[in-house]
Amino acid sequence: MTEHTLTVAGVAVDTRHWIGGERVASAETFTDVSPIDGSVLGEISRGTAAEADLAVAAAKAAFPAWAATSRAERARILHAVADGVEKRIEDLAIVETTDNGALLRSHRRGVMPRVAHNFRFFADWLLKLDHEDFETRGHTNHVSWDPAGPSVLITPWNAPLMLSTWKVAPALAAGNTVVRKPAEWTPLTASLLADIAAEAGLPAGVLNIVQGYGSEIGDALTSHPDVRRISFTGSVPTAQRITQSAAANLTPLSLELGGKSPLLVFADADLDLAVDLAVEQYDNAGQVCLAATRVLVEETVAEEFTRRFAEKAAAVVQGDPRDEATDIGPNIHERQLEKIDGFVRRAVEAGARAVVGGHRGEGRYYAPTLLTDVAQDSEIVQEEVFGPVLTLQTFTTEDEAVQLANDTRFGLAATLATGDRDRAARVTQRLVAGTVWVNCFFVRDLQAPFGGSRHSGVGREGGTWSFDFYCDLKNTVTAPKGWKDHG
Ligand code: NAD
Repeated sequence: MTEHTLTVAGVAVDTRHWIGGERVASAETFTDVSPIDGSVLGEISRGTAAEADLAVAAAKAAFPAWAATSRAERARILHAVADGVEKRIEDLAIVETTDNGALLRSHRRGVMPRVAHNFRFFADWLLKLDHEDFETRGHTNHVSWDPAGPSVLITPWNAPLMLSTWKVAPALAAGNTVVRKPAEWTPLTASLLADIAAEAGLPAGVLNIVQGYGSEIGDALTSHPDVRRISFTGSVPTAQRITQSAAANLTPLSLELGGKSPLLVFADADLDLAVDLAVEQYDNAGQVCLAATRVLVEETVAEEFTRRFAEKAAAVVQGDPRDEATDIGPNIHERQLEKIDGFVRRAVEAGARAVVGGHRGEGRYYAPTLLTDVAQDSEIVQEEVFGPVLTLQTFTTEDEAVQLANDTRFGLAATLATGDRDRAARVTQRLVAGTVWVNCFFVRDLQAPFGGSRHSGVGREGGTWSFDFYCDLKNTVTAPKGWKDHG
């Protein structure tokens, strides 16, 4: 233990950056607070442009050797990282829950095992990544997946380790080195991952972590000429800022942004399933980019749907995320609660009716809310709230359902509840969304492309698409003649 260590439920977390295989402290710190009870967890090194530069320099220095490391060896080390994550699932789960307020039971049983899987999946995918050679007038074309270089990975607070390892794992697998910046509200599991990676034998400088405010160190990272890839998950305004900053060096970007996704409930659906899917949108206190927050219900079943929904929503248990019985924990920050409440108050002033909730709860909790009587062009229907707030609108025809579903600037995901396969195929084809779920929600296979259309993002990650992004693809054309015979 040093003055740079904090503890969460007995788990020690280093509060310094991780740069070039060493812990580096900043002169300044910021305070990390738990959303569960507002308690101070500790003081975290607050990076400046100097630490950002140091981290990029470390990533640059480590790049040639890591890029030249065989695929088999890179995969072996990534599997060792996964082993380390699995050994520390309990530690990671309690630290993440304390830092971001999401459920301990889902961190333990779902999220952290998935973090390990992220490393295993991309390690294995790397080993089968290939492109068949092809011929042009007797010449051979060979496509190779060259590592692109130092990659800056910037992530939000709603699923800190999970979201970041969707980026860290493929970037490292591809042979890139990484500078990761966790969100300032949830910096802790990034620090634990640095410990795990070092123990797994990841060479110094291959993974670097700089903590701090995006507004203070973001530009230094994203405008750096030595950075060859930027992958960002977060809000649209930050993405716009990063895009401008990256333009200086034409640095390729992958952007995973917000959403205002629809849940379309047709009269032919299993209504209990549809209600379950709708209530599921309150998970993680609504702080889920993919959440289907606009519930669109066929008019003939809307009354019955609303009745069953209200009943089910009333049974949702809100409370301490460390308790097994809790369904929804707190929202992340007072600022976020004020934002959510502002959205709801303005909607009600504009004529919306809260059928469920519509107000703050105790402390950092917001009551699960369902608003009806909302206009399609209103703020509450068009803008992402990022809290446990759903709207309900009705439609009478399939055309109208599709038109309403597509009528925002986003295009991240869409969920359908219908008992008719033909309808599912027709509607899916017309929806603007990176992912469509039919009679299910949140099922994600890492082989699948993931990302959003329109203001929900640029590019796709997952499976081969991740390697497309993190690699510089090279085609080598070799002539059949011109060889000297050394036989
Ligand atoms: P945010 O954009 O405020 O912050 C995200 C990250 O960007 C943080 O680490 C922050 O420090 C950093 N940042 C801020 N300013 C920066 C700058 N100028 N340069 C570089 N980095 C900067 O977003 P948030 O409020 O933390 O996260 C919520 C948003 O993320 C929501 O819109 C949500 O929908 C979105 N999200 C999207 C996905 C997805 O996969 N599409 C997943 C989760 C969250």
